[in-house]
Amino acid sequence: MTTPYEPLRPTRGPVGELLAPVAGFGVTFASMFRPAVTEEYPRRKTPPQTRFHGRHQLNRYADGLEKCIGCELCAWACPADAIYVEGADNVDAVDGAPEAHMSPGERYGRVYQINYLRCIFCGLCIEACPTRALTMTNDFELAGPTRAGMIYEKQDILAPLAQGMLAAPHPMVEGTTDTEYYRGEVTAPTAEQVEWVREHRPDDATLDAAAAVVAGDAPAPEPEQHELRPDQDRAAAERAAAHESNLDGRWTEREARA
Ligand code: SF4
Ligand code: SF4
Repeated sequence: MTTPYEPLRPTRGPVGELLAPVAGFGVTFASMFRPAVTEEYPRRKTPPQTRFHGRHQLNRYADGLEKCIGCELCAWACPADAIYVEGADNVDAVDGAPEAHMSPGERYGRVYQINYLRCIFCGLCIEACPTRALTMTNDFELAGPTRAGMIYEKQDILAPLAQGMLAAPHPMVEGTTDTEYYRGEVTAPTAEQVEWVREHRPDDATLDAAAAVVAGDAPAPEPEQHELRPDQDRAAAERAAAHESNLDGRWTEREARA
């Protein structure tokens, strides 16, 4: 004997049946009295959560040398095959000046590409990086009109030189190895590095600021890491001001929780 069908949902009464055709409008009607949560992007940009994984960044040490050593571990760790790295010897960075370094140690990343059409922002590459050269910023505005343009080159993700850093290539801080760099014992460019750059690139735009740091007339540079670029900092300040005037207040609550 078969069991009669019993619907799990309660059957409507006569009034429910009468209102059924317009019941869906109840959701619409109720929503009319709720605060609007429309994000007015791009006029107002909602800051992502603090641990949001966005565009990558290749970081620098305080004297301006790059942290990337071109080891390709990030490329091997990437499940989407989105990273392409070509390393090169530091001695080849500048012809005739074998002491020139782009990064501490023997090698540096000569070519570095990330294909953002492939990247799934999993963060495995930054976990694999042995020097903490590669991190991810909060920059989420990754779009473009061409496929080729979505392949970011090294110059697109390399951290800008902070005030007081000396542009590479130049020698490592005298008497140090890459281990001292990794331990954070290099905190500013030195007089020898400034003199080397003055001799080989007298027109280098970073010379004066680095010389001021060496002379003690300016504070030591603070390497940028896990932070937004300066123009995005300004945008973040504008967003914060906009949020204060946001009567809804939902996003402010969300940031407070973050
Ligand atoms: S975040 Fe993930 S997918 Fe993107 S480049 Fe890194 S490892 Fe590859
Ligand atoms: S970013 Fe890190 S893991 Fe990738 S090549 Fe450079 S040093 Fe190696």
